Amino acid sequence: MSHDPNCIFCKIIAGQIPSRKVYEDDDLFVFHDIHPWAPVHFLMVPKLHIASMAQLGPEHERLMGKIMVLAPQLALAQGCNPYPDGGFRIVCNTGTEGGQEVHHLHVHVMGGPRPWLKG
Ligand code: AMP
Ligand code: ZN
Repeated sequence: MSHDPNCIFCKIIAGQIPSRKVYEDDDLFVFHDIHPWAPVHFLMVPKLHIASMAQLGPEHERLMGKIMVLAPQLALAQGCNPYPDGGFRIVCNTGTEGGQEVHHLHVHVMGGPRPWLKG
């Protein structure tokens, strides 16, 4: 299924739940995490409902590549300091033992001056 009516991130993408949007295009929706661990903390999600990285196949290579190429640009635009003294951290929790709580694939991008709340 492309959307799950019970999925909180599908509802955010559809505008049914408010969010602080960072970026949007045909494939991706990016918004600030509601409980930031770091001065900059946003989530990059495919508009397509994919439960986790465990469901990825070759058909998702372009989509996942797009996320990885866009992340550094958005990180700088959101206030992360430049590499190498600044930078950012990317986390993609997958499955219960991987710490995933929301089962719609999302890439955490965190950055900004230390200390951070977590990580
Ligand atoms: P994970 O543990 O990787 O599944 O992370 C889920 C993330 O989604 C957590 O960092 C939450 O703070 C974040 N989150 C949950 N609900 C919302 C929401 N309505 N708006 C923004 N971020 C959210
Ligand atoms: Zn979803």
